[in-house]
Amino acid sequence: MTSDLYKLTIAEAHARLSRGEISSRELTRACLDRIAAVDSRVHAFLSVIEDQALAQADDADARLRAGSAPTLCGIPLGIKDIFCTRGIRTTCASRILENFVPPFDATVIERLRAAGAVFLGKTNMDEFAMGSSTENSAFGPTRNPFDLERVPGGSSGGSAAAVAADECIAALGTDTGGSIRLPAAFCGIVGIKPTYSRVSRYGVIAYASSLDQVGPFTKTVRDAAVMLHALAGVDPRDSTCSARSAPDYTKALTGEVKNLRIGVPREYFVEGMQPEVERAIRAALASYRELGAETVEISLPHTEYAIAAYYLIATAEASANLARYDGVRYGLRVDAADHIELYNRSRDAGFGAEVKRRIMLGTFALSAGYYDAYYLKAQKVRTLIRRDFEQAFEHCDLIATPTTPATAFKIGERTADPLQMYLSDIFTISVNLAGLPGLAMPCGYDDRGLPIGLQLIGPPFGEEIILRAGDAFERVFTPRRPEL
Ligand code: GLN
Repeated sequence: MTSDLYKLTIAEAHARLSRGEISSRELTRACLDRIAAVDSRVHAFLSVIEDQALAQADDADARLRAGSAPTLCGIPLGIKDIFCTRGIRTTCASRILENFVPPFDATVIERLRAAGAVFLGKTNMDEFAMGSSTENSAFGPTRNPFDLERVPGGSSGGSAAAVAADECIAALGTDTGGSIRLPAAFCGIVGIKPTYSRVSRYGVIAYASSLDQVGPFTKTVRDAAVMLHALAGVDPRDSTCSARSAPDYTKALTGEVKNLRIGVPREYFVEGMQPEVERAIRAALASYRELGAETVEISLPHTEYAIAAYYLIATAEASANLARYDGVRYGLRVDAADHIELYNRSRDAGFGAEVKRRIMLGTFALSAGYYDAYYLKAQKVRTLIRRDFEQAFEHCDLIATPTTPATAFKIGERTADPLQMYLSDIFTISVNLAGLPGLAMPCGYDDRGLPIGLQLIGPPFGEEIILRAGDAFERVFTPRRPEL
């Protein structure tokens, strides 16, 4: 008999696991069977580690039988292939790391292991997390479970699609410029990018170190609170990781939004935005008012410079971070007569077109003579963007915006024009530049039935407020599941 246990949320699965009604082995089996049934169409996973997953499930079952296991004990997860997992191939969706097996776990992987979570496999992504559609994977694109002709968003598209298609109960992603929130929006699920420094980046393959953050994909806001609680916290191995201990985020989910002031930035309702997106966001704001919250217009005047600043800073940092892939220490090596030629050939064969474009842009932006004109200027703009938010938060407790200006686009539609692709990030990247927490969640559907994402932005370490507001909205809005 095939079981549909894969449809459960973390909260539901935990309740049934801890009552002994189901086992983690059964739940894990159900997810593995679901992957076998749908992933040839979705292509969310780059690798599935069935034997290890079942072994972890058995360990979890032993812990559950012993009583008082953590909420994530026995819960099957998808892991973006950017996280180092000991003994499990970690490719970052790049040829250059195609055969890389890390000898250590990322801190977040260690934390999830300690909580008893089960890893089903590694999920697809844009190569080195550079992209908005998962089309930049060296191993082929992931498809959106709501429409297989469309992209799931990126760069964590595999994780988002896997959760939306019920191939796993929750998943792990990273967000440098929107890579959790954008795919969460396109796939109709919940994703949260925490405050920069909230979650350790140790063992996460670096893209742009001043922007990268780790976060979860889940089916509900409550599940996001559970995951974030497990992920967040102090890590002496990441010097940028905050020393503040993480609260139990589920305690914030009171359902209460009375008198909460929700800021609505006038710059985020731009011309050319898909009308159904604007309509759905306005309807969500109306729901908040009915629940007793107040909406206030605010201004984030430097929004129009965000994309330019981001694509200078992110590429500059990427050009430095990716210098380590030289064919010598690890990763792909293409032999040559001398070492310079070895570097050239290895990097030429190992990196895809978008990664090469970013390295060239970033190297140019950092080069002597252009540094002041580009990189330094971008950093100044970043400060102005951060100040915009500081000023806005004097008038509101959180900010609500669309997550993206339009719903999921067709595979191939934007690959020819990188600038068109970069525009998908217009509502998400300012949040990274300012280091703020952002939550994406479904709030409606367009005429084609594609999900529309609401984004809730909090002040630094304001995860509780956006989770509380997101949970309150979820109590009055029921998301749809894709048919596969
Ligand atoms: N789309 C953005 C980029 O390509 C963001 C990616 C991300 O958040 N990792 O850089």
